[in-house]
Amino acid sequence: MRAMVIERYGAPLALRDVPVPAPGPGEVLVRVLGCGVCRTDLKITAGEMPFSPGLALPHVPGHEISGEIADAGPGASGRAGDRVVVFNYWACGRCEACRAGDETLCTRLRGWVGFTSPGGFQEYLTVPDDCVLPLPERVEPAHGGPLSCALGTAYHATVSRGGVRAGDAVAVLGAGGVGLHVVQVARAAGAVAFAIDLQPHRLDAARAAGAGGAWLADAGAADEIRRATGGRGADLVIDTVGRGDSLLAAARLACRGGRIVLVGYTARAGDYPRLPAEQVVLGQLTVTGSRYVTRLELRRALDLVGRGLVRPVISSEVPLERANEALAMVREDRATGRVIVRVAGGA
Ligand SMILES: [Zn+2]
Ligand SMILES: [Zn+2]
Repeated sequence: MRAMVIERYGAPLALRDVPVPAPGPGEVLVRVLGCGVCRTDLKITAGEMPFSPGLALPHVPGHEISGEIADAGPGASGRAGDRVVVFNYWACGRCEACRAGDETLCTRLRGWVGFTSPGGFQEYLTVPDDCVLPLPERVEPAHGGPLSCALGTAYHATVSRGGVRAGDAVAVLGAGGVGLHVVQVARAAGAVAFAIDLQPHRLDAARAAGAGGAWLADAGAADEIRRATGGRGADLVIDTVGRGDSLLAAARLACRGGRIVLVGYTARAGDYPRLPAEQVVLGQLTVTGSRYVTRLELRRALDLVGRGLVRPVISSEVPLERANEALAMVREDRATGRVIVRVAGGA
């Protein structure tokens, strides 16, 4: 089968022929239809993730996968032809974090798709049968992958970590794949959402996704959000950027006693966001980290899609062999919503 692989960090992905894996006990073989690309993929292909130095190359990236079940191994549930979204963080189910119900903190992962185990930039992938979720019917099958990451991450950050409530004002820094889903999830929860981004084209996308206001990331944005909230500021700020001055900006947007949830991050120490201690202490802000999503939450997030309350925002798609173009679009900030690498039938 065809695969686009990292052979060397920082170099373009290379098209290679690799063997189709066989599903083992409890696993299904997924025929990959599409794979979303997010900023994390830039860090993975550049070798800038905490695990990068120890990762064996070549490596197949891509962690936002939708596909259909092609085959099932011994004892695996799942029928050929079922359309699925692949949950990419394969928790052990037995460690302390898993038993406490927070599988995103699992310490004994079975696999981490596209991160440390093979991902979706290839035609087939074996997946434990409890790590595939049904793809909502109203979603174009090749476009469902970002639901597993962009939507799931947005749901966990906004609902579970951010504790969004009806009537809240939610501000999101960065109206990319995660941010545009934050807007929709916040709206579905009865909150009003505001988006801030560096790119004017993303502000339009945020408004189209239901944002009550969207502004360029400059000094005036905090004033706009205060005006829109009767002088209060945002109850909840979701920072999808996590670099440089983003936390300073988040603290300016938050109301007194507000909550800030960090979703984006950099592994480059020089780029760490600066924490505005004075505002955090005197404004009694809560600053929280949020990592991916649990399967239970993802199921609920997919329900929102099934009921038409949230839809994936797709910018464009390219065939597998042109995956480098998809990475470039994300790197150069040209995408509005997710770029999809179409894997099956892409040639
Ligand atoms: Zn575990
Ligand atoms: Zn992602």
